[in-house]
Amino acid sequence: MKWTLLTAVFSLPLFASPAEFDCQPELERLQNLPALPQQPKAWLQAVDSWRLPARNKLSAAYVYNDAASDPQSRQSARQCINSLSKAFEKHTNSLRSQAKALLPGASGLEARALGAWAGSTKALKSPEYRAVVDKGRKLSQRFRANIDNFEGRYPVPEGCQGKLPGKWQKSVPLRGGAVKAALNDVPPHCREALFVAYESRLSAANAPVLAALLENRQQQASLDGFKDYADRRLARTQLGSAEAVWRYLDKLSAKNRAAAEAERAALNNPPLWALQSPKVEDKPASYRPQTLIDNYFAWLGKALDLRFVPIEVAHPWAKGISGYELRQGQKAIGRLYLDLYPRDGKYGHNRHRELQRGVTGVQLPASVLVMNLPEDRWHHKDLKSLMHESGHALNNLLASQPYEILAGIRLPSDLVEVPSKVLEQLAWDPAIHQAITGVREAPPEDVRQQGIALDQRILNSAMALAYHQSGAPDMEAINARLYPKYLRQDYIKGLSPQYAFRHLASYGPAYFTYLYADAKASDISEAIAGGQLTLRRFADCMLSPGGSVPAREQLACATPVD
Ligand SMILES: [Zn+2]
Repeated sequence: MKWTLLTAVFSLPLFASPAEFDCQPELERLQNLPALPQQPKAWLQAVDSWRLPARNKLSAAYVYNDAASDPQSRQSARQCINSLSKAFEKHTNSLRSQAKALLPGASGLEARALGAWAGSTKALKSPEYRAVVDKGRKLSQRFRANIDNFEGRYPVPEGCQGKLPGKWQKSVPLRGGAVKAALNDVPPHCREALFVAYESRLSAANAPVLAALLENRQQQASLDGFKDYADRRLARTQLGSAEAVWRYLDKLSAKNRAAAEAERAALNNPPLWALQSPKVEDKPASYRPQTLIDNYFAWLGKALDLRFVPIEVAHPWAKGISGYELRQGQKAIGRLYLDLYPRDGKYGHNRHRELQRGVTGVQLPASVLVMNLPEDRWHHKDLKSLMHESGHALNNLLASQPYEILAGIRLPSDLVEVPSKVLEQLAWDPAIHQAITGVREAPPEDVRQQGIALDQRILNSAMALAYHQSGAPDMEAINARLYPKYLRQDYIKGLSPQYAFRHLASYGPAYFTYLYADAKASDISEAIAGGQLTLRRFADCMLSPGGSVPAREQLACATPVD
């Protein structure tokens, strides 16, 4: 059989027209793994040319599922996500063992790509292991659904009505905003009980689910040859083990001590239920979105030696999508689409989605920002969100590689937020802020990065880690130990906030990666703002290599001192 790069991939229309999202041809192509050449380079190219059409279709399906204006289209995209994902999984073990067999005869980039295909030897999973993982996925979904669907109320005890508004005299809805307001209205001796009722609101629904989930995860870890789930999950991060993460959290906590204590003193050392970071008022929304977008891309292009050239979007999934071609000199290197404003049926938050990974000589990378920004006027926080998501997009758009498995966003989970956080943090640099907004003075610092708010995030990271170090942890005992240590406050028995801690189900023991990425990104954005590092060099170090260079080396390249 002859292997040529698929010219069809070049001409594949990026998007179907909204009503007809169809993945049948790609799905059929994916059913049977063809016989592949037994030479590293040819094998890698053949795998790409077999997989890429389906891979692109799957990426497009995620975007349609998030954002297509036509409900029919969203539904067929959802079906495609399921069927294509399953079809991909069918051949994973076979591709892994083939890659493993070819690995000894390969060198350079081919060795790196085959290594990525082969994964660890543990990655060849038994049906038993898959069944356990599947059960874990369902438990995790149930845990989150219970939180999302919760509608309980707190029956107000006699004598606790205080200044509560009429509608809450009998019971208060256990929702964040309502409880926050009610805490000010009930008499002081009633506040702790209301706070505990709120924090522990998911105890009944989620205690059995979390216990089963943690037991399931321990089982996954044992089957995979790890001591516990924390070490299994953290093996793929820079810190590498639970022990190293504990050291990291302790260091961060000590560094934050002075700021946290100053905030506490300003609040007269409040009880747990009144503990919160000082509020910083954002200025009124005053920026015109299109002006900011134009200025931002002009600044970004200059900093990266690129141009963002507006293009026509041929068959968009909804109205109002704009597109840019990224050009280096005269050469097109990728496409960026913006779907910035809310509409019915659209995913409700802000995120980046890759549409295509860049494979040199085969296809250009493409990304889309699926966001929900205000249409009329923007706050600084809206600019910050745009810059954050564009950081993810640049990571995909600048990382074209000869093989798909090395292309695009390939940073490990504790570094994957670094590019986006770097761009986000630069929104506060006075010179950059002025270049984009025309306003000289940057807005006040984000208070979530320090003091009480940071203590709270360190505590949450520590809880998530500790729970995953055994299959049946005593969570009350863990909380009683960790609250004084990291939040500098005694734990209230039965508070049990973990049952409403959504990220426990998704990030699990890797919740600390938020903090880790923040800290690494601060080092980098400060170096950029201070002139010791250029954005261009940062991009060369951490965005362009994709998976072709180990993550540790990419980080070292961007941060002179680790
Ligand atoms: Zn992000």
